[in-house]
Amino acid sequence: MPLTTISVLALGGTIAAVPDASGRNATMDLDADQIVRSIPAVAGVAEVRPESFRRLGSAELGLADVTALAERIDELAATGIDGVVVTQGTDTLEETAFLLDRLVAADLPVVVTGAMRNAGLPGADGPANLLAAVRVAASPLAHGVGTLVVMNDEIHAARFVRKGHATSPATFESPGIGRLGWVAEERVRIPLVPRSRSPRVTRPDAASSPDVALVKLSLDDSPRLLELISAKDYAGAVIEVYGAGHTSRRALDALGALAARMPTVFASRTGVGEVHTSTCDFGGSELRLLERGLIPAVALDGLKSRLLLTLLLAAGTDRAGITAAFENAAE
Ligand code: ASP
Repeated sequence: MPLTTISVLALGGTIAAVPDASGRNATMDLDADQIVRSIPAVAGVAEVRPESFRRLGSAELGLADVTALAERIDELAATGIDGVVVTQGTDTLEETAFLLDRLVAADLPVVVTGAMRNAGLPGADGPANLLAAVRVAASPLAHGVGTLVVMNDEIHAARFVRKGHATSPATFESPGIGRLGWVAEERVRIPLVPRSRSPRVTRPDAASSPDVALVKLSLDDSPRLLELISAKDYAGAVIEVYGAGHTSRRALDALGALAARMPTVFASRTGVGEVHTSTCDFGGSELRLLERGLIPAVALDGLKSRLLLTLLLAAGTDRAGITAAFENAAE
């Protein structure tokens, strides 16, 4: 039987990095071909087709890069490729995965992976992560579950995963939900699958993608930053508020003014769980935010809310559509 064909699209990051002779100062010198060739075992899993798509640190990636990547994945799917692995820096990996989940139209497995330790460090995790990612992308179990993140032999859904540690190879987690599955030796297990795929969103026009601000509230901060955003040319804003949807009384006027100027979403700054809509009726509670026209992020964290709002605004979605899209994102 012919081997499954998997495209490996490399964007850069630590998985592409090698240190200098001193063992420090790593630079992103490896292209897709070199990354794949450094792991002979992948050849036994799939026919792997490496492609260097970008060579950038993940902080340098933009919406335009990820949109182009989604287009490329759809092109590859149309040529009959069976699955795709994307390698990139881990710092914004959860954001790329979330965007691909919404922007790739084809129904092939898409798996995003990276490395926390570069090729020159003891315990370099790139090879194991790439091998596991290829195994998952080649697995029939990875069909119809949306974009996945595979790191540290764990399989996470793009809609829940986040980077949770600055340096640990076990940095990726899906708090409140847990991983969907795991890889052990050559076996892929995905016992949990999301009930439905995330709805696809129209691809944004890179030249005119809307700017959405993301602000986290903190104890005793002043509303000045919110006022500043109101005065600037943002298309929308996401505010990470306290707990289940609370803010201080003194932030309310600025939040109301902001929501009157642009779609403004409130997410929990805890990053986990759903914001309330009818539990508390005090000072700066969720009722006050709703009265002022803010839209609940429901169960999305701030980073993902910002991306979803950006995509929705780029697609010309109205307020009711935005509210419904956040509601659906939790299901
Ligand atoms: N330290 C990062 C990484 O884990 C660098 C990046 O995100 O590009 O790959």
